[in-house]
Amino acid sequence: MTSKVLDHFLQENLGSLKEKGLYNEIDPLQSANGPIIKVGGKELINLSSNNYLGLATDERLKQAAKATIDEYGVGAGAVRTINGTLDVHIKLEEKLAEFKHTEAAIAYQSGFNCNMAAISAVMDKNDAILSDELNHASIIDGCRLSRAKVIRYNHSDMEDLRAKAKEATESGLYNKVMVITDGVFSMDGDIAKLPEIVKIAQEFDLLTYVDDAHGSGVLGKGAGTVKHFGLSDQVDFQIGTLSKAIGVVGGYVAGSKDLIDWLKVRSRPFLFSTSLTPGDAAACTKAIEILSESTELQERLWENAGYLKAGLKKLGYNTGDSETPITPVIIGDEVKTQAFSKRLNEEGVYAKSIVFPTVPSGTGRVRNMPTAAHTREMLDEALTVYEKVGKEMGIIS
Ligand SMILES: *Cc1c(COP(=O)(O)O)cnc(C)c1O
Repeated sequence: MTSKVLDHFLQENLGSLKEKGLYNEIDPLQSANGPIIKVGGKELINLSSNNYLGLATDERLKQAAKATIDEYGVGAGAVRTINGTLDVHIKLEEKLAEFKHTEAAIAYQSGFNCNMAAISAVMDKNDAILSDELNHASIIDGCRLSRAKVIRYNHSDMEDLRAKAKEATESGLYNKVMVITDGVFSMDGDIAKLPEIVKIAQEFDLLTYVDDAHGSGVLGKGAGTVKHFGLSDQVDFQIGTLSKAIGVVGGYVAGSKDLIDWLKVRSRPFLFSTSLTPGDAAACTKAIEILSESTELQERLWENAGYLKAGLKKLGYNTGDSETPITPVIIGDEVKTQAFSKRLNEEGVYAKSIVFPTVPSGTGRVRNMPTAAHTREMLDEALTVYEKVGKEMGIIS
């Protein structure tokens, strides 16, 4: 017999979520996650993936994965430190370090795992972490796992960061103090103020940690936010994902050789979880090669993003303060946001609503993620639907 306590817990909590309209129903795709997707038998213009450069379906990556599967099989067979390190992993890490302009890099099974791995390998209960209040969930969990004191600062508020850095370092309570930020904030598309963060870090001897999941492949000629600001030799930890712009799966930490050597002996997901599959590692390496050789895909991404953003603004939508291709359409009310997203879907545009608790209450939005793979016709069609639905619902006039 299964637990009655569990049954009661689940029924009560699932019921409550459904009642409040906060239970997320998942729509499985019946196609690749490209610019057009098939959902429920219907083709829709896809504005919800993180496949920024269209690499998830790129023929060159597919060929690299297939050839590697033929040679190495589908699984790595062990954790990295037993005998699950294949030469394809080493090649990927060398390419990543070169691409990020750092001495070394280490690959993990996901970006989420990077934050589980890297923070607690270096920080402990005698340390403190200054964390932007809008940092990604995996940073929040990674910080908790380290047992360091977490001190949140107001989003991108450099005066607040400076004051809290001063207080933490002068208190004498902590051995080490780190500042952690997203490079690009995923819900609003704004960029962290890295030049000021690095300056404050230098003044107070802080360790610096930038999770650039949404910046890698997008900013700094593809190398990310840190490179964008010319700070490659001034940030201790650069985290990236291989699942967004790179189009596959996995994550990495780039930094000094000593840091990477330490993570190889102390970071738990590296020691206790099986490594990336050989096919995925090879596809990621191919993606990095493509990005190192040409900025064509980034240019197309920014062109498409600029076009969609300008079109939405012209229609009268509030697209917030995004500085990147992430394009929110801020509606406000949660129920209205969800109804808006549903109507867009019915008219042929897949753009997911994002509401509390993912974003602050009253700032519900539909988040648009244009990619390099969208054509001008697709974006025009999406804008036509935005105009129709927005007028119908009285959101624009
Ligand atoms: C998406 C994201 C992650 C997680 O990356 P995955 O590779 O999907 O696990 C981590 N950090 C930030 C800031 C992200 O946006």
